[in-house]
Amino acid sequence: MPSFFDLTLDNLTQLVTAWGEPSFRAKQIWQAVYRDLAPSPEEITTLPKPLRERLKAELTFGSLTPMADAKSLDGQTRKLLFRLPDGKSIEAVLMGYRRRRTTCISTQAGCAMGCVFCATGQMGFKRHLSAGEIVEQVMWFARELKGGDDRLTNIVVMGMGEPFHNYEATMAAVDLLNDPEGFNFGARRITISTVGLVPMIERFAAERRQVNLAVSLHAATDKLRTELLPINRKYPLAVLFEAVRKYTATTKRRVTFEWALIQGKNDTPEQARAFAGLAAGLPCHVNVIPLNPTRAYAGQATTRERAAAFKAALESRGIPCTIRVRRGIDIQAGCGQLAVEEQVTLQS
Ligand code: SAH
Ligand code: SF4
Repeated sequence: MPSFFDLTLDNLTQLVTAWGEPSFRAKQIWQAVYRDLAPSPEEITTLPKPLRERLKAELTFGSLTPMADAKSLDGQTRKLLFRLPDGKSIEAVLMGYRRRRTTCISTQAGCAMGCVFCATGQMGFKRHLSAGEIVEQVMWFARELKGGDDRLTNIVVMGMGEPFHNYEATMAAVDLLNDPEGFNFGARRITISTVGLVPMIERFAAERRQVNLAVSLHAATDKLRTELLPINRKYPLAVLFEAVRKYTATTKRRVTFEWALIQGKNDTPEQARAFAGLAAGLPCHVNVIPLNPTRAYAGQATTRERAAAFKAALESRGIPCTIRVRRGIDIQAGCGQLAVEEQVTLQS
């Protein structure tokens, strides 16, 4: 059965008019689902009953089945494991920090990129998610929060999968979430993280989207980056930085680099220096985060001292850097990996 969340408002309008309904019904349904957060057509009581029944019979409003729901000890992070209709599973996380409510969502079941330290990479690629499956993760948390009279403030596309490997569905999801007639979630409060698929960075830049871009860098020399992120063989640093520079020049926006610090590997002064060379004059910001150790990778998290030294090495060269901590580590909230909202000063 087709999913409601794969439809645009135009698609929905075509559908309901084909059923012989007036077109205003489409907008009414759209707003009930995306603004009032009705979880299913039965709850849209302003609709005539036969229309509610037809919607229920012809569209699915829930293709995600929650299988596990874990809360971190501090109560600030919640991780959901969802089963998809074909039995595959994905994870999505909700993080609270002060007034921020950030959801971290997945774009694929598994991932084909094989980054050695990443839990999702270690499981391999299962399949792409549809736009609707991506949107539904957000709606699920939006409804939950509404129950507590709260709302989402940020979306990070940093869960399972490589969003630029599933570009069309990811952008369709962004457009759906963005729709001013519907959920109306500001593009500037959405961040997409990519491992560095150059052609898609170029496309993203050309589309001049207002969505924030983060690039998972993790190393500033080709030898080390290829060892950690095999995709670097295909898109080495020179090519990647050319695309990133094009992005910042076209969009006049800053780019964020993600850097998981692995003890003795990529947390060295040499790496910091090499990065400063690559990023000279580039409007950017670096988020470093101690590695979240995973089963199939022997590397360990850096220490506080080394993280602070790495940050200082970047800052002394004029590159802003934030040390982030992994919240909800007790519930494996990382999807193996999540970059985290809480900004913590680990030094001193
Ligand atoms: N595929 C995209 C988005 C999902 S991964 C990407 O790679 O950017 C989200 C972030 O978590 C990436 O920066 C990724 O490199 C990082 N990450 C993955 N595994 C990690 C781990 N074990 N510890 C710390 N960060 C990790
Ligand atoms: Fe895929 Fe990102 Fe994990 Fe690399 S870090 S394997 S791109 S999810």
